[in-house]
Amino acid sequence: MGKSKQTGNHKNDKMKNIAKKWKTKRRTKDLDQIHSDMKPETAAKLLHQEVDLDVTGCAQHYCLHCARYFVDMRALKEHFKTKVHKKRLKQLREEPYTQAEAERAAGMGSYIAPKAVNVTTQPVEEDMD
Ligand SMILES: [Zn+2]
Repeated sequence: MGKSKQTGNHKNDKMKNIAKKWKTKRRTKDLDQIHSDMKPETAAKLLHQEVDLDVTGCAQHYCLHCARYFVDMRALKEHFKTKVHKKRLKQLREEPYTQAEAERAAGMGSYIAPKAVNVTTQPVEEDMD
């Protein structure tokens, strides 16, 4: 009987890994965007959005610093206790790299000590239960 020259095609196994590479993480806002969101007037708007049924929790429970929506006040409060949120606050305390800072670094203009950014968790309404 004739011999088959075809051997097993193990190369196909590699294809599975490629699919994983194409998957990208869902992008959230950049830190500098969040810094601008933290301006009082912007923050007020974000924290008091109109009811949007397409958004998690109808856009009523928003974490300003993580740019995330939560289903309810309890979920939001729980989120404030998490590592992700605390890590984010820490990141946000470092002042964003501004144009003024770039100029200072380049020796243009006088040196101004970077101001400390005070970042605290947004206040939440208590007595929800
Ligand atoms: Zn958060």
